[in-house]
Amino acid sequence: MRRFFTEPENIRGDIIIIDDRDDIRHMSRVLRMSVGDEIEVSDSSEWEYRAVIKTMDRDLVEAEIVDKQKFSGEPVTDVTLLQGIPKQGKMDTVIQKTTELGVKTIIPLFTDRVITSEKGNIPKKLERWRRIAAEAVKQCKRGVIPKVEEPVRLQEAAEKFPAFDMVLFPYENERTTTIKEALRNALKEESKKPVKVAVIIGPEGGFSDEEAVLIKERGGRGVSLGKTILRTETAGMAALAMIMYELEL
Ligand code: SAH
Repeated sequence: MRRFFTEPENIRGDIIIIDDRDDIRHMSRVLRMSVGDEIEVSDSSEWEYRAVIKTMDRDLVEAEIVDKQKFSGEPVTDVTLLQGIPKQGKMDTVIQKTTELGVKTIIPLFTDRVITSEKGNIPKKLERWRRIAAEAVKQCKRGVIPKVEEPVRLQEAAEKFPAFDMVLFPYENERTTTIKEALRNALKEESKKPVKVAVIIGPEGGFSDEEAVLIKERGGRGVSLGKTILRTETAGMAALAMIMYELEL
């Protein structure tokens, strides 16, 4: 069943209002839906509903709720990916794939080795990245669209580290601690699962030595993702899958 997204204020008693014209066009023209058909609706924050279409106009659909439950498709672990902005197009892949894997927030990072041509035209890129996140979430039946935040410099992002239970720093020069050990140690030491987890991934050229020092000083735990060097767009996906394996499955 196709899932639609609306805002909590559009849930009025047992009626759900859908007023996004693109969604309505998709419903009627592509899915050929009409009165009496059932849809799945997420309120984008907490609840998901099954509802039956009661009225259908060009700019307004009303559907009656038949069932309501808390999101089942959302991981409990709240992962923020801090991603050094990679070369053209690769950020699209990172956003799409990490959304499927359950990321909650993506913060694009300006770091020493982000190439200059990727630093421009940010408002347009941000709009595109947000659209990709919204599309990916529909496909994978999650309830919440991951936030893609405004890009910030690494130094600024580091100020937010204390807000996380754990900041994982996959670093290709880290030979001693694997991500598995870091996660399992955290489980042992804290006796409760880390919930808010940050993962910080460098761009193609990785992090400079000074950046690596800064990240560790601010509490980032250097971890290895394995014996091979992964491309930047692979590293985020791999880290996400490993975190979910340890904390969710
Ligand atoms: N500086 C490297 C490659 C950077 S790979 C070089 O050019 O040789 C881009 C990012 O992916 C790195 O900053 C790191 O965050 C992550 N990464 C890739 N392979 C990794 C591994 N085996 N262990 C941990 N992190 C890795």
